[in-house]
Amino acid sequence: MNDPPFRALLNPHLANLEAYAPIEPFEVLSTRLGIPAERIVKLDANENPYGPLPAVTEALARYPHFHIYPDPAQSELRDALGAFIGVPAAHILPGHGADELLDYLCRLFLAPGDTIVNTPPTFGMYGFDAKLSGAQVIDVRRNDDYSVDVEAVEAAVEAHRPKLLFLTSPNNPSGNWLADDALERLLALPVMVVLDEAYVEFADHPSRAGRVLGHDNLAVLRTFSKAAGIAGLRLGYGVFPQWLIDELWKFKQPYNVNAAASVAGIASLRSANRIEAVVEKLKAERARLYARLDALAGIEAIPGSQGNFVLCRVLGRDARDLKLALERGGILVRHYDKPGLAGCIRISVGRLEHTDALIGALRTLT
Ligand SMILES: *Cc1c(COP(=O)(O)O)cnc(C)c1O
Repeated sequence: MNDPPFRALLNPHLANLEAYAPIEPFEVLSTRLGIPAERIVKLDANENPYGPLPAVTEALARYPHFHIYPDPAQSELRDALGAFIGVPAAHILPGHGADELLDYLCRLFLAPGDTIVNTPPTFGMYGFDAKLSGAQVIDVRRNDDYSVDVEAVEAAVEAHRPKLLFLTSPNNPSGNWLADDALERLLALPVMVVLDEAYVEFADHPSRAGRVLGHDNLAVLRTFSKAAGIAGLRLGYGVFPQWLIDELWKFKQPYNVNAAASVAGIASLRSANRIEAVVEKLKAERARLYARLDALAGIEAIPGSQGNFVLCRVLGRDARDLKLALERGGILVRHYDKPGLAGCIRISVGRLEHTDALIGALRTLT
């Protein structure tokens, strides 16, 4: 079919975008494989296999006001978040997942011709959102141990004058923590630093959210998708310096956080100690997963993950092949076709029986 003439009206930098390849939905895969959804071992998206706490589903069932628009200021949620992370609520903005806040930051700062610095291998959304704004992505590859190459980032900032620098700690998919001295050096650069802490609850180090108060060029993003187990409800939040949150309030969609996400978030924060207990259980399972993986000859697990996932090098067999073989048995893991991750799969930490099923399958497949 010919291009309709109106295609020429599209924003040129969006019309030429590469299509984003979404993952196959869980239910579709279940039908294709002929395996019931409840028997699928889903270790491909770092979701919390325990899901929301009963107190959260109960709060959702009881909530009487779903026919009313949500509070555009999300005051109750922001107050609860402020108490939870120890930062004044005035610095906190909830979003439809942390992903929405990444999109806001890119649209607020970037115009066609601007640049960002990215430190791959890392989360894919930074580059994706920057390109939506027509910005150019300067990739500064991580070192072999997946630490950020601070000197190379400094040189890239000097050479390209980017507006945004994206950092992830713990990093997805390598799981490593961004060291304090590295963060301090990067914060001294003339660039806005976006620190993504989607997995900080699983780390042995404290969040840096409070440092936003002392750094006008730092934004910290967090989420309820991983530790709090409500990825499907879409709730994240950002901690921003005063000057920036003032701009974001003008910019954001009034009802960006829906009532169900807000109710679930507030109920989760009321039971924060119980979420912490689930996180401890997952951290113990992470240690057990490492021990079982290390006993396999065909897998080299990258040590020291601070997230709820483990990056693995597949030895003596094609990694994509292995991913597909696992999938036929109803076990989903993540495989990448990206530089720095050749031959790798990422395995999310699941329940005890998920680890056992995975290891059993890997024993016969590697
Ligand atoms: C999962 C993930 C997110 C997405 O968080 P949402 O709140 O679900 O949008 C953000 N950053 C990283 C590094 C992630 O892995």
